[in-house]
Amino acid sequence: MSTNTNYSFFKNVEKNFDKAAVFTNWDNGVLRQIKECNSVYQMRFPIKRESGEVVTIEAYRVQHSHHKTPCKGGIRFSIAVDQDEVMALAALMTYKCAIVNVPFGGAKGGIKIRPKDYTPYELEKITRRYTSELIKKSFIGPGIDVPAPDYGTGEREMAWILDTYVAMRPGEIDAAGCVTGKPVSQGGVRGRREATGLGVFYGLNEVCNTQWLMDKVGLPLGIKGKRVCVQGLGNVGSHAAKFCSEGGAKIVGLAEFEGAIYNYDGLDVDAVIEHRKKTGSILDFPGATNFAKSQDALEMDCDILIPAALESVIHAENAGNVKAKIIGEAANGPLTGDADDILNRKGVLIVPDMYLNAGGVTVSYFEWLKNLSHVRYGRLEKRFTENLNHHLVMQVEEMTGKAMNKVERNLIMQGPDEISLVRSGLEETMITATREIVEIWQGNPAVPDMRTAAYICAINKVATSYAELGIFP
Ligand code: NAD
Repeated sequence: MSTNTNYSFFKNVEKNFDKAAVFTNWDNGVLRQIKECNSVYQMRFPIKRESGEVVTIEAYRVQHSHHKTPCKGGIRFSIAVDQDEVMALAALMTYKCAIVNVPFGGAKGGIKIRPKDYTPYELEKITRRYTSELIKKSFIGPGIDVPAPDYGTGEREMAWILDTYVAMRPGEIDAAGCVTGKPVSQGGVRGRREATGLGVFYGLNEVCNTQWLMDKVGLPLGIKGKRVCVQGLGNVGSHAAKFCSEGGAKIVGLAEFEGAIYNYDGLDVDAVIEHRKKTGSILDFPGATNFAKSQDALEMDCDILIPAALESVIHAENAGNVKAKIIGEAANGPLTGDADDILNRKGVLIVPDMYLNAGGVTVSYFEWLKNLSHVRYGRLEKRFTENLNHHLVMQVEEMTGKAMNKVERNLIMQGPDEISLVRSGLEETMITATREIVEIWQGNPAVPDMRTAAYICAINKVATSYAELGIFP
């Protein structure tokens, strides 16, 4: 999504929506209903800090669309949180879920704090109080609204949310489905932690494997050998960088708050993360050149740029200096509207956030299904499949008179476990979504860019869903 210097984040989501809506056949009333945020809950509550000081916390939960329930969307802890931002992010969630065929309405939550300013004890108090405010107003529940991690939050916060919910809703059998992104021991699903970053890789991999798209940017087919820069080494950025590297891309640039580093020959992502843990900074990594500002990474020489921190980092002032041919929007809204226009004019392929970072919500959906079914993926079929495969291997060996080696045997015999099922479901989802969006784009030469094609895909799905409910004629 994009934010224009002249427009708020939410207004820009609406602008992008309008740009796509003209390519659909839905009437204005339908389109207006889809665009609006259905429910906005703004709250203030007091917290007593460890010092004894009482502070008032500002927080939000926005449910953008109820065309499917529950609603779904992350909770962000950031000092930049405001109502407009949460509304924009909630709207993006509606479109994101539609694109990847996850049957949820969009939502988002935000607490306006800088997490580093609070102790873990205080963060726990804030998270638990926020959860009880949501419960009081029926803004959370496995069939109502299901939060997840986002910027500044992770498994720890999701576990606090679950625990508070369970304490206030004793005996609710599906309570574990009230939040996703939980630790595995608390009902989480294996593969959720890295899901968004892995989804970014699966998406970019498919984009790079699409001849029509690579012809547009004049790059060879395949992600192998492509030079990649990543801004933000948090959950999404670190995993996106690692999986791209494992997939054969070369990570040449990385950036965090404190600055950026570059090495034309490639950086070892794990080693950089280890170096940052030890020294408190990514700077001075052996063999790499230092850059004073994180923003410098956005202008580095590379094929693919992955902004994975916060919104509006590429704007009118720096968009002209971007050298990448592909921008993979791992963060939500990393481009302003001005930047979007400038980069599209330059012929840069912008792979839009609401599709590219949908891996998190996709695997959250798998986690929610696991919570409702009360059984781990693969538990019933793993051993059964292995026994069946063992039998088949023996038959093949008997028929051919040749014994398989251990590696071949293990590969064929292996039954599906949770992590492999989750990853294969995610890969399938990202590939299908890429192809659907590209088909829309290819099918209409007037569609200007991939973001517009993604919005068309989302609008048609949400409107169809309303129509099938009989809400629209
Ligand atoms: P995170 O808190 O785990 O990591 C964000 C990282 O960005 C942190 O390490 C932070 O230090 C760094 N950062 C902040 N400002 C920076 C700057 N100016 N330059 C360089 N680094 C900077 O957050 P996350 O969960 O990885 O989320 C990142 C983005 O991805 C957000 O836009 C979020 O909405 C989006 N997203 C996250 C998920 C998810 O599952 N976590 C899903 C979809 C989208």
